Amino acid sequence: MALKVKVDRELCIGAASCVAVAPNTFELDSEGKAVVKKKDGSVEPTSNFVAYTDINDTEENILNSAKSCPVNAIIIVEVDDAGNEIRQVWPS
Ligand code: SF4
Repeated sequence: MALKVKVDRELCIGAASCVAVAPNTFELDSEGKAVVKKKDGSVEPTSNFVAYTDINDTEENILNSAKSCPVNAIIIVEVDDAGNEIRQVWPS
């Protein structure tokens, strides 16, 4: 199962629970919004999805961090081999 995750910047209030739960996946940027960290050391500064294969973390950690977000700003979707969204995993 291929998964992608993103932070909706409009929804994020900078509560940082995601950073506490999954520090390998999230950090707060200079605007106090969570961004997704990639294996190559870069971050995704927009609300674009990032493939789990580009993140150095476990599926469990990422899902738990999404569940910890008080405003459900972390969105997880399952995608097919072509990268097309099949279903939304979180919020369920
Ligand atoms: S837990 Fe949610 S609101 Fe808090 S920083 Fe992370 S994405 Fe933003």
